[in-house]
This record gives sequence, structure tokens and C-alpha cells, in this order.
Amino acid sequence: MLPLQLAKLGKLQCIHPSFIFVFMLCIMTSRTQLTESALKLMTKYPLIDGHNDLALQLRILQNNRLRLVDLHSISNVATDINRLRAGHVGGQVFAAYVMCTAQDKDAVRLTLEQIDVIRRMCSEYPEFELVTSAEALRTSEKIACLISIEGGHAIDSSLAALRMFYQLGVRSMALTHTCNTPWAESSSKLYQFYSRENNSLTDFGEAVVAEMNRLGMMIDLSHSSWDTAKAVLEISRAPVIFSHSSAFAVCGHERNVPDELLRVLKENKGLVMVNLHSGFVACGGKGNISIAADHFDHIKNVTGAESIGIGADFDGASKFPYGLEDVSKYPALIQELVHRNWTEEELAGLLRLNFLRVFQQVEQVRDELVEALPGKKRSRSWRQQMSVDWF
Ligand SMILES: [Zn+2]
Repeated sequence: MLPLQLAKLGKLQCIHPSFIFVFMLCIMTSRTQLTESALKLMTKYPLIDGHNDLALQLRILQNNRLRLVDLHSISNVATDINRLRAGHVGGQVFAAYVMCTAQDKDAVRLTLEQIDVIRRMCSEYPEFELVTSAEALRTSEKIACLISIEGGHAIDSSLAALRMFYQLGVRSMALTHTCNTPWAESSSKLYQFYSRENNSLTDFGEAVVAEMNRLGMMIDLSHSSWDTAKAVLEISRAPVIFSHSSAFAVCGHERNVPDELLRVLKENKGLVMVNLHSGFVACGGKGNISIAADHFDHIKNVTGAESIGIGADFDGASKFPYGLEDVSKYPALIQELVHRNWTEEELAGLLRLNFLRVFQQVEQVRDELVEALPGKKRSRSWRQQMSVDWF
């Protein structure tokens, strides 16, 4: 209710103006307490965010020349160390992303350069720590950095390249970006590369999934078509993630996850890390914290709170809801969820424990497959007994 409406109410029902003042004070005090409770919670459970494109901005702004930037404070971007700290971020997955136009050209070299810049920024600044295991992520007291690849075009259809990326510290890969690869389908129709019908995950695509399971690399289905996501969810031995996607039922964008897939994801014990970009949260408008929170509520209703995280997409997308403009603003979102009666256990999961669990389970599958040879998979179709070699 607005103050003017309250004032009118006061007049009409002979409520003394001091009552209105006390009433407003109560609202403000409860909001302040909620902020404190959100901050307290985030101190106890520092956020692990699933997707950030600062490395892309470093290429765009300075061609990856780190010495020209002070990562403590950078203007024109949404991410820097000071704001990560204000936002109580304890872990950040940084994307090594290269344009789809590099597919079949220099995507591998460009991806190496993006991995290089993430590795350098996470080792040159003492506030950061590069981590490659769930245990190191769990115990880090700094801002832990994880490296992900955004778009399977980065491996140039080579499992050897995938394995070498793992050696460099990459611990998750989105199978596609906005372009199809020769072996998986994108949710976007932006590019005409490798147009396909009824061919959402080829035999080689299945081999990529099997190899990621074997290596202990998280499979990221953000940007993949729903058919590709379904095909992967059928065969992956490990839980998968959508590192930066929201709820299709709340905002009907192809990048978001429909309820049908959310239910399969729940079975898989995987994770949707909600994207905060206005285009996926508010479908056209700028949106606010409340509409962003609706995505969390919806996903919780379908999957339970154990399958939700946050993958804000800062510095990848440009438009964000009012109050959620950069990495310092996460506490305002958590405050809204506290206000919506999310329990401490649910928020602890959302903030970091769900991601740590998935990462651990991915590592467990890797350990179970320790005897498996690279690049071998068993087809589940009519060639069921035939193993195929892909190198
Ligand atoms: Zn993206």
C-alpha cells in the first residue's frame, strides 16, 4: 500500500497520522532486518554462481591484456573484486566463451586464450583462487574460480581437445552456444551451421557425453535445444546442470527450461542455475527482483529446492532487472526469498550446497569409471553390443 493510500485510509477511518508513521517504520525496520538476515546467511553460505562472462569483457575491452585493468574496480562491467565481495560471492564459474563464427576456424585457439586469461586473473590476484575439485571449492576462503567452456564448438569435434581442456582446469562445458555443433543442437536458430532434423545428439555427441562423464566434467545444457537436453539426460551417468537458464513457465523464452525437462532434471538430481538477465526473467521488460524471485519459486515447486542455484550471466547479458544490476546485488535477491519464506536449508542449497553436491557426484562418477578407456562408448541403440572408438 502506498503512503497516500494509507493517508486516505487514515482520514476515512479516523486513524491518527502517528499510526501511519509507526506502520511505515515497522515496514522499513522489517525490511532492514531481512537484509541483515540475508547478509548473515550469505556470510555462512557464500554464493557459488554458475555463469559469468567477465573473461569475454576482458577480451572485448583490453584484448586480454590484464595489466591494463585493475580487477578490484572496473567501470562499464558488472563484475569486479570489490563488488564480488559486497555480493558475498565465494565461488564463480567463469566462462571461456568464443563466438560461434569461430566454429571450424580458430575456436580452439581462442578458447585456449580465454582459459589463459581466466587462469591468469585467478592466480595474479590474491583475492581469487583457481579450483578444480569440489573439495577445493568447498574449503576455499577466497573467491574460488572455476573454468567452464561455453559452446561445444570449442572442441572442434575432438575428444582429445576436450581431454586437454580438462587438463587445463576446465570443469564444465555447455554442449552448444547459439550455434549447432556437428553433434548437438542449439536452442537458437541464429546460425545455419549444421542444420538438423531429428538428430539432436549424434553418436559422436553421445561419445562427448560419455567422455565428460569419464573425465568428471559437468555437462551444461544451457543453450542446448530441449531435444538435445532430453537426449543427454537419458544417457548421462552423472547429474547435469543448466548453468544459466530460467523457468519457461514464467517467461516463455527458448533459453529457459520447460516444466517437462525440470521434472526429468529432478530425477537426474541435476541443477538449474537461474539466469537473471531481463530477457529471460521478464520476457521483454526490464523486470524487478520480484519477477526474478518468481522463477525461483516456480522451479522449487517443480523440482524441490535441491535442484536450484544461481547463474546470473553478468557481463554476458547486458540488461538486468531493477535492483539486480551487478554482482554486488545478490543479497537483495536472497532477501526477497527470505521474505517469501524460503528456509535456511533451502537457501543454503540454493547459494552453494546444491552445486557442491552436483560437482561431487560428477567426480564420483569419474571415480567409478576410472577403469574405462578414453573415447569408448556403448551405443544404447541396435548396436547395443558394439563399442565405438572416437578419438
Ligand atoms: Zn550464455
